[in-house]
Amino acid sequence: MVKIERSFPAPESLAKESQKASGRYDCPDVIERLQKDFHNKCYICEMKELQDPNVEHLLPHKNGKYPQRKYSWENLFWACGHCNGIKKHSKYDEGILDCCKFDPEESLCFSLEEDEVSVTITGSENEILKRTAMLIKETFSLKNTGMRTYTSSERSRLLQKEMNLLYRQLEEMHKNPQSQAAERILRSLLRRESAFAAFKRCYVREHAAKYPQLQQYVAL
Ligand SMILES: [Zn+2]
Repeated sequence: MVKIERSFPAPESLAKESQKASGRYDCPDVIERLQKDFHNKCYICEMKELQDPNVEHLLPHKNGKYPQRKYSWENLFWACGHCNGIKKHSKYDEGILDCCKFDPEESLCFSLEEDEVSVTITGSENEILKRTAMLIKETFSLKNTGMRTYTSSERSRLLQKEMNLLYRQLEEMHKNPQSQAAERILRSLLRRESAFAAFKRCYVREHAAKYPQLQQYVAL
C-alpha cells in the first residue's frame, strides 16, 4: 500500500446518483477517475492491470444503510475482487488506513521473506494500523476457500516475480555502479505507480547503506 493522490472535485455523477432511491456509485466518470488516480492498481495488494476491478468502500455502506458512505468520493477506492472480498469481513468494518490521506510507508514496513509476506507496524501501534497490516497479509495468505487458495497464491507468485526483477537490477547496479541504464530501470521499479511498490521501496530503504544512491527514489 502506497500513498495515493486523489483528484478533486469529485466525479459529477455521485451527487446526482445520491439523490436517487437506488443510485449507482460506479458510473463511468467514477470508474475512469479511480482507475487513473489509483494507477489501475489495487490499493490493498498492489496488483496491477486488474481484470476484475471493484469500487471498494473504505467504510462499508451496508447495502445503503449509510448513504453518505455509499456516494462519498473520499470513501471510494480501487481494489481487486479478491481484496474487496476479504475486506468484507466484519473485523474490517471500522476501516483501514486511508492511503489518500496518510502515507502507509510512514507507519508500515512491507517484506517478503521465504515466500512469507510480512507487514509490520513501525512506531506506535493503533487499531487502524493493526487492521491494515492484517488485511494486507491476508490478501497474500488467506486460503479459506478453493478460489482463495489460488488467488492468494497468485498474488504471492507475482510479488515474488516483481521482487526478483528488483534483486536482479540491484545486483546489476552493484556490479556496475556507473550504469545509467540500471539506475533508470530501478527508478521505474521504485515508482509508487508500479506493481507491489511498497515492498520494493521498503526493501531499498531497509538496505540504505548498500544502496545510498537509490534513497532519493524511495524518500517519503
Ligand atoms: Zn488486491
